[in-house]
Amino acid sequence: DLLSLSRIELAAHVRPETPVELVPIVRQVVDALQMLARDRGVTVTIKAPKQPLIVSGDRDELTRVFENLIENALKYGASGKRVEIALSRAFNVGGGEEALVAVRDYGPGIPAEHLPRLTERFYRVDPARSREGGGTGIGLAIARSIVEAHGGVIRVSSEEGRGSQFMFDLAFVDGREE
Ligand code: ATP
Ligand code: MG
Repeated sequence: DLLSLSRIELAAHVRPETPVELVPIVRQVVDALQMLARDRGVTVTIKAPKQPLIVSGDRDELTRVFENLIENALKYGASGKRVEIALSRAFNVGGGEEALVAVRDYGPGIPAEHLPRLTERFYRVDPARSREGGGTGIGLAIARSIVEAHGGVIRVSSEEGRGSQFMFDLAFVDGREE
């Protein structure tokens, strides 16, 4: 994981540019995590528009972002019993079209003082509990590097006791800003 983080950071100035359809990736990741979801008693739903959401990027890297965020929601937010993934299309202020992704859980949330450091490598809110879950604390650092290498931004909003939402945006292949 550390090696792949360095690789992604080194390559951050080279924007990955193959057309990637997002919804099939999300379905594939959710299928792969279905066992974990069942174990934790969590129902996962995917909300997406009917038209394909095709962004410019690297399929494997984007898959890792979804894996990290959805696995986190299942592991740390399981008490909320449901995880919702929402994909939509939006315009940015420059007139370019983009895809917006949100992964939301209804678990314990993340105390505000931790949010600024959450995407640092090895940062864990509750190291004892994360260790039980097998986490190394690098998933969000990788996710952030990948999203930023794609020209997007990753955002977190969380309210203690109510859950967390991780969001990011990705430019469309035919975005006018290109
Ligand atoms: P890894 O992803 O490397 O297996 P990890 O899951 O511990 O390990 P990150 O994905 O970077 O590492 O997450 C960092 C920490 O942020 C987690 O250890 C956890 O404390 C907290 N966290 C992440 N997602 C959530 C969430 N949805 N709800 C509550 N806490 C979260
Ligand atoms: Mg993780």
